[in-house]
Amino acid sequence: MSAIELYARATEGYQSRVAHAVAALQSAATEHAGRIVQATSLGAEDMVLTDLIARHHLGIAVATLETGKLHDETLALIPRIETRYALTVEVFKPVHESVVQFVATHGARAMYRSIELRKACCGMRKLEPLSRMLAQRSAWVTGLRREQSNTRGGVPFSERDEKGRIKFNPLTDWTLADVWHYIATNDVPYNPLHDQFYPSIGCAPCTRAVAVGEDFRAGRWWWENEGQKECGLHLKPHSALVSAQANFGSAEVKGSSEPGRSQNEDAQKSRVSLIGASA
Ligand code: SF4
Repeated sequence: MSAIELYARATEGYQSRVAHAVAALQSAATEHAGRIVQATSLGAEDMVLTDLIARHHLGIAVATLETGKLHDETLALIPRIETRYALTVEVFKPVHESVVQFVATHGARAMYRSIELRKACCGMRKLEPLSRMLAQRSAWVTGLRREQSNTRGGVPFSERDEKGRIKFNPLTDWTLADVWHYIATNDVPYNPLHDQFYPSIGCAPCTRAVAVGEDFRAGRWWWENEGQKECGLHLKPHSALVSAQANFGSAEVKGSSEPGRSQNEDAQKSRVSLIGASA
């Protein structure tokens, strides 16, 4: 059974939730013109947001973190997005020498050995590249929803992150049924792993399929306690990075000397172009 068959339903208030999300994105794009980015995880919610941004011709850049541990199915979404929406996805990767040093010191399976090592891996592969993605930007857009987990139950429509940037969460009041109804009715591309009982998809070593009845995020860091199952992207990015550096040495969790620079910038030499949706 596909994710659409499993989850998509038109429920009361759906149209007004879509209209509210569009209005929030339009307002954010105007208020932060040239300084706002959608930090897409390439998950279902983020695919909805990218579709809304492109469909409504909003000046919001689209960027993702390529941790080096993503599934092939996840990586394949990047060219699919670029083709479908005629835009460039900015790709931010960890610093290569940091990865090499971390793996040489702690091994490729370090994330399973302790919370500290798992968070250090997230610090190196996600938080440091995120800090480069957000440099020079005053706002970012995420696909967080209140319904996703207990730790996300209080997610507001907008908030300030630790650096004072505005973080917009336009889908926070959407249900899982809303997300999949939008995907189904707008033919939005999505990760085929969602059809294999992966409701939440992160790095391959830290994501598994869930069983019927299991929590939405039960397949993420399943060996950890519920309250610890966040990578820090949606907590306090800077402090989490500093914490990782304090625990493991700045040589292992290096920042880039080129803030705001994505790894595909050199190759493409072009700013993100949002020409609009083809659908
Ligand atoms: S999710 Fe797992 S593999 Fe990915 S950065 Fe975090 S610990 Fe490392």
